[in-house]
Amino acid sequence: MKLIFASNNKNKIAEIRNQLPPTIEILSLEDIGCVIDIPETSDTIAGNALQKADFIKRHYGYDCFADDTGLEVDALNGAPGVYSARFAGPQRNDSDNIDKLLKDLEGHTDRKANFKTVIALHVNGQLKMFSGIVDGEITPKRIGSDGFGYDPVFKPLGMKKTFAEMSMTEKNQMSHRGKAVAELIAFLKSQ
Ligand code: IMP
Repeated sequence: MKLIFASNNKNKIAEIRNQLPPTIEILSLEDIGCVIDIPETSDTIAGNALQKADFIKRHYGYDCFADDTGLEVDALNGAPGVYSARFAGPQRNDSDNIDKLLKDLEGHTDRKANFKTVIALHVNGQLKMFSGIVDGEITPKRIGSDGFGYDPVFKPLGMKKTFAEMSMTEKNQMSHRGKAVAELIAFLKSQ
């Protein structure tokens, strides 16, 4: 089975490919010649995932899926949430986002946070949604050099390592996206 994954984020594509069985092949937006920035204007994570998947289905007609992720920090009343990519500004820069997060959390003892991913899938005329959540905490400084986004400052509950210190396989076993993709795979296998 071939599916379009509505993303050009090389880290996400690699993580998802690492998890998929050989029977499911994914193509990125670049692979189908889609170079535009698909609008993500919803005020919910699920809304953005749906918006991206609908866009590809409508404009290209392919079966496809899209994901959207948000980091919710308790001491920041759930921010940055749906605005995680643009937390430090429209430049959508991972390092700037982490700098802002660490600064905003200065002096806070409660560093609890969670990552949430929603996947929207269009396949065989059906629309399905899947989600995954991981609880954890924001470390006081960056630790580790793997992964992407907020990985160097996110330590899952009960773990001694941040996501940026884990192999892709280890991260996938417990991460928000890993859990949502596991649900997606189970659904596709049931078809
Ligand atoms: P989006 O799902 O690509 O819109 O991601 C929203 C924000 O969360 C971006 O700043 C990403 O870098 C970040 N992000 C998404 N997934 C992960 C992850 O697995 N680890 C760390 N940061 C992530």
